[in-house]
Amino acid sequence: MTYPTIRCGACHRKLAEGAYSYLAIKCPRCGVINQLKAVEPPTRTPRASTASDDHDTEPGHPSGQPPHRG
Ligand SMILES: [Zn+2]
Repeated sequence: MTYPTIRCGACHRKLAEGAYSYLAIKCPRCGVINQLKAVEPPTRTPRASTASDDHDTEPGHPSGQPPHRG
């Protein structure tokens, strides 16, 4: 597994490499303090238990009905 490279936002000097949730690191080259936050995954909201036997409405219903023969 490869970890993302952390670079200075000002001079693009490589500062570190690794995984982080929050990081504040000062660039030794230009002295800029880089505050980095890991990208959080989209929070998944647990769905409330809906009625499972409710299949009345179905989206994407074809408008044309097949011709009945017989
Ligand atoms: Zn820098």
